[in-house]
Amino acid sequence: MTSEARTRRKSRRVFLGGMLIAGACVANRAQAAAGGSGSSGASGADAKGAAPHPLRQQRAVTQPQSYRLRPEAGQVHPQARGSTSVAYRLDSEEREIALTFDDGPDPEYTPQVLEVLRRWGVQATFCVIGREAAASTWLLNAIADGGHLIANHSWSHPQLTRMRPTEIHEQLARTCDVIDEAVGTAPALARAPFGAWNRRALGISASLGMSPLGWSVDTCDWEEPGTRKITSTVMKSVRPGSIVLLHDGGGNRSQTVASLRDCLPRLLDSGYIPVLPPRTNVFEDRTGKGWGV
Ligand SMILES: [Zn+2]
Repeated sequence: MTSEARTRRKSRRVFLGGMLIAGACVANRAQAAAGGSGSSGASGADAKGAAPHPLRQQRAVTQPQSYRLRPEAGQVHPQARGSTSVAYRLDSEEREIALTFDDGPDPEYTPQVLEVLRRWGVQATFCVIGREAAASTWLLNAIADGGHLIANHSWSHPQLTRMRPTEIHEQLARTCDVIDEAVGTAPALARAPFGAWNRRALGISASLGMSPLGWSVDTCDWEEPGTRKITSTVMKSVRPGSIVLLHDGGGNRSQTVASLRDCLPRLLDSGYIPVLPPRTNVFEDRTGKGWGV
């Protein structure tokens, strides 16, 4: 994320490479994102000299969690929605909504999310990071066994719009392979890190058989704003057809879990029906030149 982009994010819309990306939540951790160290979770504690948990320490060495320090949030401006093939809402006139959980799977929080969903008989979509999935393939099986959908959220959560075609392809294809090998089905949906797509990334994703999935309701739960705040954001923002962005990985998601316990029965009482998003709008190469992979 460039300093210019960080500044412009405050305007709630960020255009990068001609494509719209996330931006509703102010990047109060942008400095940490740029520097690779700072204010969130384990890194903050480490900076103060507190001894990290052994597992956390090992995890930090083997799997740098840069995405944990980066904001991923935003609402896409309605005028931009028609300019891409990304599904930002469900095409439904019913009170259907889609709950989506990003940045997992996480050994601590994903099972908690799954338990809440199971209790209420609700299915959701989990946009997994390949690197995390490869480390915990049992969680992929748990997600699939619950009847939920697994989507591709890249291998290591980079900004795809800044990558070469071969790099984009590796990020997506490697994650497809992990999912396919674990549950026997390759993902049909992909969500770009930070919601940042460009034509090239869309094309490569399509060449791998995936449709792009956006969101229309951003809970900003990654900022850990408090359980009540997450719940109120969901309840105030949700509309028929909403795709709701939540996170089951990438940091402490206890607030997300607690909010889900609170708002899920309220959503059901309000007549909302959580569903799985359909595969729609596979991006086509109309130039005939391919995607340069
Ligand atoms: Zn993400």
